[in-house]
Amino acid sequence: EHVVNKIAAGEVVQRPVSALKEMLENSLDAGATQINIVVKEGGNKLLQIQDNGHGIQKEDLALLCERHATSKLVAFDDLEAINTLGFRGEALASISFVAHLTVTTMTKDCAHGLRITYRDGHMDPAGPKPCAAVPGTTIMVEDLFYNMITRKKALRSASEEYSKILDMVGRYAVFSKGVGISCKRQGEARADIHSLANASKLDNIRSVYGANVARNVLPFEQRMGSGADLPKPMDTPCFMAEGFVSSADYSGKKSMLVLFINQRPVECGPLKRALEATYAAILPKAAKPFIFLDVRMPGPHVDVNLHPTKREVGFLHQDALIEAVRAAVEERLLASNN
Ligand code: ADP
Ligand code: MG
Repeated sequence: EHVVNKIAAGEVVQRPVSALKEMLENSLDAGATQINIVVKEGGNKLLQIQDNGHGIQKEDLALLCERHATSKLVAFDDLEAINTLGFRGEALASISFVAHLTVTTMTKDCAHGLRITYRDGHMDPAGPKPCAAVPGTTIMVEDLFYNMITRKKALRSASEEYSKILDMVGRYAVFSKGVGISCKRQGEARADIHSLANASKLDNIRSVYGANVARNVLPFEQRMGSGADLPKPMDTPCFMAEGFVSSADYSGKKSMLVLFINQRPVECGPLKRALEATYAAILPKAAKPFIFLDVRMPGPHVDVNLHPTKREVGFLHQDALIEAVRAAVEERLLASNN
């Protein structure tokens, strides 16, 4: 049974960035307004995430790493789509099967923190130990895949794993308005990503993607149907999209589509290709676009059949939605180009 659990865990946690993404989402779910991430050796050695969220009650610590133990069933209920993108109560359980997991947490109404380690889905039988802490939760994941040699060998170099981490954290740093997110390598004074809780999305685009991008983006908005109001019949195309698209003056070398659908970062190849083609047709040089899109649609419209570890997403009325967004971007570009 243990081997089966370990293999299943390796499905959920494929590399450091996938473990970190689950933990970052947990911190956001916990209402954190500040999240600090520290990474050692691309996360192969250490992933640490500290948040100032609501913390974990002592009596919940025993169940934290039980498969399918989640405190979020109610919140998940109305957004079916999100179920398929995350894992209900599986992330921490999985991590505990393939790494050394230490949780330090403190709720606001408690005078001290609690620290506990987990292994193979269970907490240390000695139970949580009191410790000094500040309200919130810190999770440390050490020696990922220490017990799965083939997985460990399949990891890329520390710098490649770290760039995947920065890519993922950067997306959230821009998207998560009202939350400050930082990410740095252990031992470094300077953070590689540093967004501020009270900054605008454009400010955060500047700090994550640089002044050249921030200077050359146009705000963008488009909707179809009456927005993302729920519920909606399945046969009615309906979405709301807003974000930033690069103008004709932007000369990026690599195209970048940062896409969130219903608050989760996803990839959509067909949308990316349609937008790239539009830029290629309008802009004279080989300038590649930067596009940041926050799309909301009724949860049931997001394809529920895709595997949760795949970031590529499918949704109903895909062609209509892609064409609507593409046409609006085109119009925005043409208008600013004159
Ligand atoms: P899920 O997020 O699907 O519920 P996880 O395995 O990711 O499952 O987390 C299990 C539970 O641990 C969560 O439901 C939540 O109650 C708790 N938890 C995890 N991380 C945090 C955190 N940073 N702050 C507060 N609670 C957390
Ligand atoms: Mg989670």
